[in-house]
Amino acid sequence: MTEIIAIDGPAGSGKSSVSKQVARELGYGYLDTGAAYRALAWAVANGFVAFETADGHPRVALEDFAYSISLNPDDFWVKVSGTDVTEAIRQPQIAQSVSRVAQVSQVRAYMKSITRAMVEASGLPGVVVEGRDITTVVAPEAKNRILLTATEEVRLKRRSAELAPEQAKNVERQVSERDAQDSKVVDFMTPAPGVTLVDSTELNFEQTVAAVLSVIRA
Ligand code: C5P
Repeated sequence: MTEIIAIDGPAGSGKSSVSKQVARELGYGYLDTGAAYRALAWAVANGFVAFETADGHPRVALEDFAYSISLNPDDFWVKVSGTDVTEAIRQPQIAQSVSRVAQVSQVRAYMKSITRAMVEASGLPGVVVEGRDITTVVAPEAKNRILLTATEEVRLKRRSAELAPEQAKNVERQVSERDAQDSKVVDFMTPAPGVTLVDSTELNFEQTVAAVLSVIRA
């Protein structure tokens, strides 16, 4: 059995870079579950996967979603139907459309099952799995479950730190809107019972990694 370290948090909480580093330090794999939702949004936008609404019910042709992702924190890539989409899924258009596919319950159930299957197939001693619903839905049984947060002000600043002021404003608006959409589906702002809160508002990157590792090692 592969151990799961479950880490959830909102956009800009630093969970991807922190989770990657935690995985390196533990010699574990790293699984970014947001990448699958982004890749699906990309596949829909590029005509690989149909997204239809029939009788008021959204349906996504998930049988056409040929998805693969690296679990190696030092060699990260994401592919859809053989196309490398590692960069493409980070584009603002994808960030804008991803919440729409993430709200479909058929999609969420599918993502849970592929996430668990990828962890099991990894053959690794453990995988750091990060997302929005890992501590609550995907791996509620995990021994180590962490919610990584920071105040909205700090999260928006981190996201826009390297951008020009006009761009920064757009990114901040997008992140706030995406969090608002996503929190209709899962609560990733308050820790569920048994989940440890790590607040990174006052911590730098190294301190946040150390805080997460100390929760795991405790
Ligand atoms: O983590 P990241 O910002 O890349 O996630 C992209 C999107 O994927 C989120 O905005 C959310 O809509 C969706 N997501 C989710 N559940 C997860 C991970 C991501 O709904 N476990």
